[in-house]
Amino acid sequence: MASIKNMDIKNGINYCIENEIFEEINNIYSTIKGGECSGCGDCCNESVGINLVEFLNIYYFLDRDRELKVKSTDKILEYYFSEYITKKSCPFKDENNRCNIYEVRPLNCRIYGNWEKKDYELNLANIKDKNSEFAEIMKSELNVSIPNEIINYEIKYCEKFKPYQSYMKKTDRMDLADNMFILDSKILANEIMALDYKDRGIVEYFIETLLEEELAFKIKVEIAKKKKLKIINRLKKITNISNK
Ligand code: SF4
Ligand code: SF4
Repeated sequence: MASIKNMDIKNGINYCIENEIFEEINNIYSTIKGGECSGCGDCCNESVGINLVEFLNIYYFLDRDRELKVKSTDKILEYYFSEYITKKSCPFKDENNRCNIYEVRPLNCRIYGNWEKKDYELNLANIKDKNSEFAEIMKSELNVSIPNEIINYEIKYCEKFKPYQSYMKKTDRMDLADNMFILDSKILANEIMALDYKDRGIVEYFIETLLEEELAFKIKVEIAKKKKLKIINRLKKITNISNK
């Protein structure tokens, strides 16, 4: 049993198609001030947070490419279930450092690099503080020790990206996020999907389409405690069968 039901995903995608939400997402993306980016993929070294409509957009994209969907699901399972043991790149980054879902990559990927250095580093420091707090809770409440290299992991500021005009300001980024949230709220307010709304990363969204959230977390904790990464291969087999 999964937390995000297939029927809800279908309803969400149909609503987005009928109400041109996917076009609206692209309109929001098209307002992002661009810049020169080498496409090195160095910023794709971890997963990112996304909105509900972006999840539906990516899901719909993958649904039309079964091979990529199976491959991505395997990598998502590896990422999620080994997260407290080892650091992995974004599950959508391929062997050549390219994005497998480039056409529908989310907002956070599109604005990466487009930050003033001090702004980026402040944000990074906040993330690391939150990671430390989380690690302390995991240790005290569940006896899970998350390695320091994971707690303190950071993707360095990108010096290679050069904005065409000026770097985006925090208010620009917040405007984009608000516009995306307005699209999410259309789905939620119209009760198109029976889904509790909360911050989720791209990985968490997909994991919740495969398993019940609480169960997934329990398995992840067990894997971290016993360092039994082999369990992930069994989970891959099971989900590959259900994906067919
Ligand atoms: S934003 Fe920077 S790190 Fe990311 S692909 Fe472009 S140049 Fe590389
Ligand atoms: S979704 Fe694509 S662009 Fe975004 S972090 Fe992953 S590989 Fe990089």
